[in-house]
Formats: sequence, C-alpha cells, structure tokens
Amino acid sequence: MNCIFCKIAAGVIPSTKVYEDDKVLAFNDLNPVAPVHILIIPKEHFASIVDIPEEKMEIVAHIHNVINKIAVEQGFDKTGFRVITNCGDDGGQEVKHLHYHVLAGKKLPNYEAQDK
Ligand code: AMP
Ligand code: ZN
Repeated sequence: MNCIFCKIAAGVIPSTKVYEDDKVLAFNDLNPVAPVHILIIPKEHFASIVDIPEEKMEIVAHIHNVINKIAVEQGFDKTGFRVITNCGDDGGQEVKHLHYHVLAGKKLPNYEAQDK
C-alpha cells in the first residue's frame, strides 16, 4: 500500500477524524486554508473521479450525504461552504486518492478572479 490516504483510511497514518463509516472517512486537512478544512475520502482506492467505474458511482452520492451531515452537525449548512475535488495535474491534485475538500468558516475568495 503506497498511498497516503489508503494508509489514513486503514489507520496506519493517524488523522483527526471527523466522521467514519464502513465506506468513507472524513478528517481535518493537515494544512488548512480555511477555519474549517475537512477532507472526505472513500476507503476504497480510486485515483480521482475519472477513475470511478460507473457501477461504483454511488460512492459519490454517499460522500455528498456525509458532507451534508457534517455541515449540519458543525452548523456551516447555514453559513455556506465550498466542496472541491481536484482532478489530475491541471486540476492541482497532489494526492492521487479521490478526496473532496470541504471549506467553511469564512467568506471564501472568489476563484473567478484567477488568471485564465
Ligand atoms: P490535493 O492538492 O487536492 O491533492 O489535496 C491534498 C490535500 O491533502 C492537501 O490539502 C494537503 O494539505 C492534505 N494532506 C496531505 N497529507 C495529509 C495528511 N497526512 N493528513 C491530512 N491532510 C493531508
Ligand atoms: Zn489510496
């Protein structure tokens, strides 16, 4: 197992757990860019969204349900938040195990201002 997020899912590398069930794990990002910065990963390894076979796509709906649960639990369902999944090199994906960033707790910068 040479994947850092597989190791976190297996508990080999520690993480600050926010939520866990048999399919997914949510934990705090090591280098937060917002007051709330949570990562949600499937326990099964998929490199990114394009690597999820169609018949396993329900994991994405499950991840979104978990995001909603965490949002309600932590109260940022009311104040707003951002969900990001970086995909591949141009998308800026550094860890090649599917993960969703959830950012909340402040007014997030408008990414439309970035250079095209
Ligand atoms: P990405 O650039 O979308 O691949 O995001 C990878 C994210 O994983 C970054 O925000 C890192 O800060 C985060 N990260 C890397 N290693 C760890 C770790 N051991 N525990 C928590 N977050 C991590
Ligand atoms: Zn992995």
